[in-house]
Amino acid sequence: MPAALFPTLHQSPGKPALRFGDQVVDYGRLAAAAHALALRIAETGRVAVWATPSAHTCVGVLAALLAGVPAVPVNPRAGVEEIAHIVSDSTPDRVLAAPGDELPGALGALPRTDVDLEPEGTYRPDGTTSAPDESAPALIVYTSGTTGPPKGVVLPRRAIAGTLDDLADAWAWTGDDVLVHALPLFHVHGLILGVLGPLRRGGTLHHLGRFSPEGVAAALEEGGTVLFGVPTMYHRLAEVLDGGAADGAGGADAGRLAAALRGARLLVSGSAALPLHDHERITAATGQRVVERYGMTETLMITSVRAGGEHRAGTVGVPLPSVDVRLVDDAGERIEGGDGETVGEVQVRGPNLFTEYLGRPDATAQAFDGGWFRTGDMAVRDADGCYRLVGRRATDLIKSGGYRIGAGEVENCLLGHPGVAEAAVVGEPDPDLGERIVAWIVPAEGRERPGEQELADHVARRLAPHKRPRAVRFADSLPRNEMGKVVKRELARG
Ligand code: ATP
Ligand code: MG
Repeated sequence: MPAALFPTLHQSPGKPALRFGDQVVDYGRLAAAAHALALRIAETGRVAVWATPSAHTCVGVLAALLAGVPAVPVNPRAGVEEIAHIVSDSTPDRVLAAPGDELPGALGALPRTDVDLEPEGTYRPDGTTSAPDESAPALIVYTSGTTGPPKGVVLPRRAIAGTLDDLADAWAWTGDDVLVHALPLFHVHGLILGVLGPLRRGGTLHHLGRFSPEGVAAALEEGGTVLFGVPTMYHRLAEVLDGGAADGAGGADAGRLAAALRGARLLVSGSAALPLHDHERITAATGQRVVERYGMTETLMITSVRAGGEHRAGTVGVPLPSVDVRLVDDAGERIEGGDGETVGEVQVRGPNLFTEYLGRPDATAQAFDGGWFRTGDMAVRDADGCYRLVGRRATDLIKSGGYRIGAGEVENCLLGHPGVAEAAVVGEPDPDLGERIVAWIVPAEGRERPGEQELADHVARRLAPHKRPRAVRFADSLPRNEMGKVVKRELARG
């Protein structure tokens, strides 16, 4: 029989499992609520979960996993068209939501089951705890929609269990950890790592509802041990530590935040590249290195820096124990060794992989080369086996004047200029160069706006002349999705 996804669910009924604001749900109540709901939905083919940042979402997803009913988490801030797309694409029979939550559009038209956190009666585990097959679909998670419309990714139980155990190994993650996070609960990062991660280990999740540096400081002071964030969050922490931008949520004190972060066991960043400048500022103020991990909806986690291991900023670490990674050049040849220079596509094999793009057999077939999944991400391997991501093949690899230039390197360099708050670099068609490097810049507040030539020189001096931007465009903000990722196709249109 396959092992249960949550082996410690019944071990310590009085221990806090979830905390959302002042609401604490202990393991006893979580198990009772999830099992009661699992019984109610056991005959359902597939459920949508209205994935607000709440204990209800956690109970809904847990119940579906216990019942062996595939669950589709839906972004509560999605527009009606996006919701219509997800509902018609994933065809759920029913939607799970917190009592009183209003469900828009196509979700509102589905039969609904309210998630009850305090169901009546006692829970009897028989009947709902027999774990389904390891390869059965457990979750259907939509990608972040950074490069195109979100794709439904079918994830088996095996992948979820495997990736969480890999991360436990890499991060010495145990049931004693209290995870602090403020991420949305409908992607891999916030839901699988951030909710199912603590529950698989028998630990505690403390969700902030909304991210603020002040909230992070308070949660760490109250016993949080691990922080998960996306780079835009670490950027805001770095700004506060720097004594820079005032924090909108009441103003966080730099000294207090530094002390709180210093006391954490582990700071983890993922979903997009952490700018070097922010990493360096956090380390300078706290002595902590931010651990970067790299993964995708389709593969779950691929590589990570090890907790406590030697650590160079700018790498996403080494492959996780159960994942095979290879780098493949444009000719389809495998790149061996680690010269830190030769760029190839990251391809992945292992039990952490998805089974298919929902309803898209062609896209699924195209995504694989033999048993290897083509990530579309380009990287180099260093001599010590650490990977450094160069960017996505589709949007971040600029072919200019016979060179291939990774957008991330130029972005990192621009961010080192005191007049630059945010930077996104893209390639645009150019009659001479093939593509020319264009930098979109959000100027730093309260400073003189840097000139175009000044920024070009800044890059040319630090990297190489051919990596300098040929055009600089200023903007008040960059188009970012819910995970803080820059949606470059919107810039190109801009
Ligand atoms: P879509 O596939 O819809 O365009 P997406 O690729 O952003 O959206 P996700 O599956 O959420 O959707 O994100 C996976 C991608 O995020 C990876 O392919 C990689 O490009 C990027 N990524 C994840 N972690 C990191 C990291 N630590 N550093 C740099 N990039 C990262
Ligand atoms: Mg993707």
